[in-house]
Amino acid sequence: MCQSCHVRAVSTYRTAERRNSRDTGEGAAGLTTHAPQASPTVTLPASLDEAVAALTAMPTAVPVAGGTDLMAAVNAGLLRPAALVGLGRISEIRGWQYQDGHALLGAGLTLARMGRPDFAALIPGLAAAARAAGPPQIRNAGTLGGNIVTSAPTGDTLPVLAALEATVIIAGPGGTRREIPVSHLLAGREMLHPGELVGFVRVPLLHAPQTFLKATGRTGPGRATASVALVLDPARRGVRCAVGAVAAMPLRPLEAEQWVASLIDWDGERGLVPEALTAFGDYVAAACIPDPAPPQDGSEPVTLPPAALHLRRTVAALARRALGRALA
Ligand SMILES: Cc1cc2nc3c(=O)[nH]c(=O)nc-3n(C[C@H](O)[C@H](O)[C@H](O)COP(=O)(O)OP(=O)(O)OC[C@H]3O[C@@H](n4cnc5c(N)ncnc54)[C@H](O)[C@@H]3O)c2cc1C
Repeated sequence: MCQSCHVRAVSTYRTAERRNSRDTGEGAAGLTTHAPQASPTVTLPASLDEAVAALTAMPTAVPVAGGTDLMAAVNAGLLRPAALVGLGRISEIRGWQYQDGHALLGAGLTLARMGRPDFAALIPGLAAAARAAGPPQIRNAGTLGGNIVTSAPTGDTLPVLAALEATVIIAGPGGTRREIPVSHLLAGREMLHPGELVGFVRVPLLHAPQTFLKATGRTGPGRATASVALVLDPARRGVRCAVGAVAAMPLRPLEAEQWVASLIDWDGERGLVPEALTAFGDYVAAACIPDPAPPQDGSEPVTLPPAALHLRRTVAALARRALGRALA
């Protein structure tokens, strides 16, 4: 889902004037998958407010960070931005800082940077997700902000941000800033307005174990078929869990979280017996991939198709292991 609403989808086919097909690469029907286009204007602002001003001045411009999602869409002919506002030179959003028990992460942090040990010591769940996202060349360019704004169901940082109950700070025209929960953005409850940019992500520092586990349909780097992020919050005696890739946005199994938190001896060893871990996995999986509602007319109950049952077993295993590792 592209939330930069000032992007228009265009057809890559051109049927207008006929030209020499050898010169233009057009086929016999005068169609081409390489429609000529003027190169987009590229602006490279040095600050967040300059970038917002550039977007406001050029309503058809599109922000680009690492370009791993955006350029894939351009190359596939899904987008043809008239102008680009590159965010790569904005140093204020490329690092992080501490603020009142939180970390304020710049939207321009690359996935590779987030995977390094110093970041992992701070927010281990987010570091694990960043390390699991794509091959190295994608992690070197791809950013946290891009992952959030693309909001793909398979976005690896998203379940972790949901479990951490992170918020995003959005920069708008005139130096304005507004802060909203990441989950509101992912659910479409709140959107980026034209000219706005994700500037920072505020994440609580919980100083407790966090895990992120991901299943893919292949060996090596791949998109998640299911993922589970789990964080312990000892100060609030809470377990927070989010399941990624099985729905359009990460899902929080709130009842399962509360149930398992009530079993944990927060002042003691915090361990759980294997049966409790298994029950938690099943609880999470059934909450995220529920059985179909029973028919009202008394006919045979409908069962989940095999693929959904397989996905449910995968989620159950990931959640069981994620909790087991967090409590180990
Ligand atoms: C081969 C391949 C494999 C991949 N594998 C994975 C994977 O395993 N896991 C995963 O999670 N992702 C994966 N991705 C997706 C991608 O790398 C991530 O989503 C990445 O984090 C996007 O960041 P970016 O900086 O490249 O975004 P860009 O492509 O620059 O931008 C993406 C979108 O966000 C907007 N945008 C960017 N920054 C901002 C901002 N600060 N404010 C407002 N709007 C903004 C852009 O306008 C655009 O609409 C993969 C991509 C490829 C091509």
